[in-house]
Amino acid sequence: MNAAPAGIAVLILSGGGGTTLLDHQLIGMASRLAADTATVTAIVVASSADRHVGQELIELGADEVVLAHHPSWRANVPEAWLPSLVERIAALPLRLILLGVDAAAADLAPRLAFRLNGGIASNCVAARRENGRDVLTRPCYGGKALEEVSFRVEPVVATVRAGTGVARDRDGARKGSVSELPLDLDDAAARRCAVRGRRAMEHAGARLETARVVVAGGRGLQGAQGFEQAAELAAALDGALGASRAACDAGWCPLSRQIGLSGRTVAPELYIALGISGAPQHMCGCAGARTIVAVNSDPDAPIFKYASYGAVADCGELVPALTAAITERSG
Ligand code: FAD
Repeated sequence: MNAAPAGIAVLILSGGGGTTLLDHQLIGMASRLAADTATVTAIVVASSADRHVGQELIELGADEVVLAHHPSWRANVPEAWLPSLVERIAALPLRLILLGVDAAAADLAPRLAFRLNGGIASNCVAARRENGRDVLTRPCYGGKALEEVSFRVEPVVATVRAGTGVARDRDGARKGSVSELPLDLDDAAARRCAVRGRRAMEHAGARLETARVVVAGGRGLQGAQGFEQAAELAAALDGALGASRAACDAGWCPLSRQIGLSGRTVAPELYIALGISGAPQHMCGCAGARTIVAVNSDPDAPIFKYASYGAVADCGELVPALTAAITERSG
């Protein structure tokens, strides 16, 4: 009898409050790579088991959902709960484990790969199946190039950027299994890392990763006042405000809004880049945008190579005029 083909897992660290668009994109990506021959398992780790989440993930493409939980679970102390989770994962025949790119995944993914004697590919922006192997694409050389990697070992743990996968439409008729996995916590390991305080990062307006419109500002906005104007344009378009690293470094915009290689990845329908030169390290964070509109005073700025529409203009003049025109049209 042939062994079942190794499956694909999506590991979701739940902060409570259900699943995110990125989780749905990962499930969509896994079911595309599984191509109806491998099982897609969603493993949700949380402080409690939420069966609604399990059903939702089945409808989005998972074949089975494991709800791993412990009331004292904390995502940022993987030493405490990972061994217990690995015991269960190691028993599954898996070829690929996908996680969304974020700070917790950056900490967790290499530990998981090490414990499973697997491979690790971080920051992936594409994946395909070729000659019986999963081929993962990720930026290298500071975002100036892309490399494709595949592994001789299994499973491969891959962190994947938002917008890489495409979420499937929910199908209420899909069937699958939902099981619970109570986790054991290693108390000694949990005590090694103590959280001494929490400070919320600024998150005004729509969430960047899920916003349909992102208005991003760069050094060309020339200061905090330029960013106020950009924020007004974002509000008029019901969008979110983002920034280049240069603008964040200058203190004009919170670091939590930085887009790019060392910031966040967005894939909106419309990305408006104001006074941004178009460095590769910035553009890899918005490459998934459907339409890019650039405003820059330099007609030779590299951003125009990426933009579908561009205006050679001074942002200080054009942005307030654009906001006024949009506000007037929308009444
Ligand atoms: P600049 O390159 O200075 O461009 C400013 C632009 O504004 C110019 O094109 C100029 O013509 C235009 N301008 C000036 N005045 C006006 C005006 N009045 N109206 C209109 N246009 C005007 N960058 C990121 O953004 N995100 C990252 O995550 C990131 N990660 C990095 C990681 C590494 C390892 C490295 C090495 C770099 C990284 N960078 C990142 C930095 C990146 O290389 C660029 O330096 C940065 O993106 C430049 O930001 P900018 O376009 O705002 O500034």
